[in-house]
Amino acid sequence: MTETTDVGRSEPSLEDLSSPAEVPEEYRRLQRKAREHMILHFSDMASYGDGHEIPLIVEGEGYRVTDASGRSFIDGLSGLYCLNLGHSHGAEIGEAAAEQMARLPYTSNWTVAHPPAVELATALAERAPSHLNRVFFTSGGSEAVESAWKIARQWHEAQGQPQRRKAIARRDAYHGVTMGALSFTGIPSCRTAFEPLAVPVHHVSSTNAYRHPAGGEGDEAFTRALLDEVEDAIEFEGPETVAMIIAEPVQNAGGCLVPPPGYWQGLRQICDRHGILLCSDEVICAFGRIGEWFGAQRLGYEPDLITFAKGVTGAHFAMGGLMVSDKVAAPFLDGRSSYLHGITFGGHPVGSAVALKSIEIFEREGVFENVRSNEAKAKQALEGLLDIPIVGDVRGMGHFWALEIVRDSETKEPFEGEVAEWLLKDVLSEKLFEQGMICRLDDRADPIVQIAPPLTAGPEIFDEMAGILRVGLEHAAERAGERT
Ligand code: PLP
Repeated sequence: MTETTDVGRSEPSLEDLSSPAEVPEEYRRLQRKAREHMILHFSDMASYGDGHEIPLIVEGEGYRVTDASGRSFIDGLSGLYCLNLGHSHGAEIGEAAAEQMARLPYTSNWTVAHPPAVELATALAERAPSHLNRVFFTSGGSEAVESAWKIARQWHEAQGQPQRRKAIARRDAYHGVTMGALSFTGIPSCRTAFEPLAVPVHHVSSTNAYRHPAGGEGDEAFTRALLDEVEDAIEFEGPETVAMIIAEPVQNAGGCLVPPPGYWQGLRQICDRHGILLCSDEVICAFGRIGEWFGAQRLGYEPDLITFAKGVTGAHFAMGGLMVSDKVAAPFLDGRSSYLHGITFGGHPVGSAVALKSIEIFEREGVFENVRSNEAKAKQALEGLLDIPIVGDVRGMGHFWALEIVRDSETKEPFEGEVAEWLLKDVLSEKLFEQGMICRLDDRADPIVQIAPPLTAGPEIFDEMAGILRVGLEHAAERAGERT
């Protein structure tokens, strides 16, 4: 198993990035200090040592980053699916941050408000689906998911249904790592060490049409099979005990799993039938990743809750939040309930100012239009790789795409275990790195290569990335026969 987690080894061989000889002494000192004083997220610290230093990314411009040795790479993952504006707007956004810091560096959103948070909540309500008018701010995505769960629990309690304590989520999905959010995450390697988890969650199939037994039977049959499974899970748990269904518009982990037509609308109907709240986890899919403010708008459904983070500030500040529908907000406004939740930095004034500036830039520069108009080029460039024998499937939308890597594209036989890890981590990632591209290679579910470039990049980036992928994948296809 490749040591991928959400952070992935996609940036995988970042550690192979710089040979010490080329790195200036000041950066070498920092690499040593990083080894001495940091715990990197989801990283095997023992894999770093003399001559195998922790990579230092020191600069960014447009859709490229530069490492400590001066090498330049395509930032094919927008940082971690978050740098929606790329690396070129830091100075402008920084001015907005500096102004806010000079005026009011901090006040909370606990019983008081401040102008940037109010402006931001208003801006989001104006851009979200029309029934979602209220925002609770957090510092990131896991906290947003925690917040969704706690409001769902309290909402049901206010309806006289405190017994609704279970949730439905999907296998392979990533919803964060704090103990509540981790309950929804459907990736065993993230969960197992921490079980039993805080929330009882029933995990159902993802929308991987390439792998699901009904995936080849046409959209209608596939949608039906997926929704029937959700219904069965609810019946099994007891419909009166289920509080929330949580899913991403396009599921990230597992590889950009676009739902079949009617899937989300079907989830909506199931939730309505059983009195369950529907949460769209848009930590990745909002703010243009799939071409609209929110993924629910792109796919045409009406969730009760939306969680967001990452791209709201173009990753220039750590911020997230929860949007709730008027229905969900009601008991918290009419005195039936009071939300028992708060986070010191949720809605931080500087973060709010940064988000407002990012929204201004998204609109001024037509960033989401750019994503929508690049989509056909992305599809065409990546589907052009399907002739490589180890490329089984290409899927995604907007600036959010994955290739599924298989041993045999005729039979869909997957690479598994240590072979998958070797092929992704040692062979493919090394080659992609050598060619100057950072992307994600992930074998937590079936092995995938994932790309999600900044939303400001033009269509040419997809040809550039496909060119690099071709070199790496053809090399990996050649080497694949070495291990069975
Ligand atoms: N939900 C989804 C869909 C995510 O992709 C992520 C992170 O990648 C999270 C939640 C957790 O967000 P964070 O890492 O900001 O806590």
